[in-house]
Amino acid sequence: MIRVTLWYEYAQELGEVRREFVPGMDDETYAGFAEFMKSRAEKIRQVYPKGLMGTLAEALSKDPELEITMTNIFEPEYGLPDELLEKTDVLVWWSHVLQETIPDSLAMKIVQRVQKGMGFVPLHSAHKSKPFMYLLGTSGCLKWREDDFCRVWTAMPSHPIAQGIPEYIELEEEEMYGEPFDIPRPDDNIFISWYRGGELFRSGCTWTRGYGRIFYFQPGHETSPNYHNEYIQKIIDQGIHWTAPRVWRKDFDCPNIVDAPEKR
Ligand code: ZN
Repeated sequence: MIRVTLWYEYAQELGEVRREFVPGMDDETYAGFAEFMKSRAEKIRQVYPKGLMGTLAEALSKDPELEITMTNIFEPEYGLPDELLEKTDVLVWWSHVLQETIPDSLAMKIVQRVQKGMGFVPLHSAHKSKPFMYLLGTSGCLKWREDDFCRVWTAMPSHPIAQGIPEYIELEEEEMYGEPFDIPRPDDNIFISWYRGGELFRSGCTWTRGYGRIFYFQPGHETSPNYHNEYIQKIIDQGIHWTAPRVWRKDFDCPNIVDAPEKR
């Protein structure tokens, strides 16, 4: 059984964000932001009557090997208290407008748990989340444009995450993410997306950090219907299986002072 925590920002779907979640914002910007959030929530409800992450959770819960816990940023301790993080094998992370709200201390706890062995599956706009940037050491910057036709090419069909996935998947509408994508060179680049605008994007990438595995996957814009797509669901499911820990690092108190090995 893989213990999966689906962490979802939830702000856009809720349609409102309390003032204290965006402390750096002036009143005028906050008023515009609040308006945007309301209109976004309406759009998301049309595309995902069961919610963006609710839809994904429902799909993943058909996999009997996954034990899923859903949480979000408005829960106590930003939805990820130590007790939950410590019993998470794979953390799936979807975030967007409140990336900066996550305290550095929480982001670093996630980094350390990945280094110990936890799997991490950042989705879509989580390319600018603190855990993603701190784990990879790059800005995660990219180009973007809303709503374009997208063809997701399976560039590495031999990879476990690509099993059962066709040569390409066509998505009538997805947010365009384009290169250059500021990430370290991936261990494997499993999917590459092409957009009608002509852009290309490394949309499915893996890395390891310490004992942990990371799989970033791009489709999943909140107003595009792609979490209803069975191939997208299957890729995320297989990403969870692939990042699930094989070995946990136990002795992680460092620096360690040690005696010299016995002399020969
Ligand atoms: Zn998006």
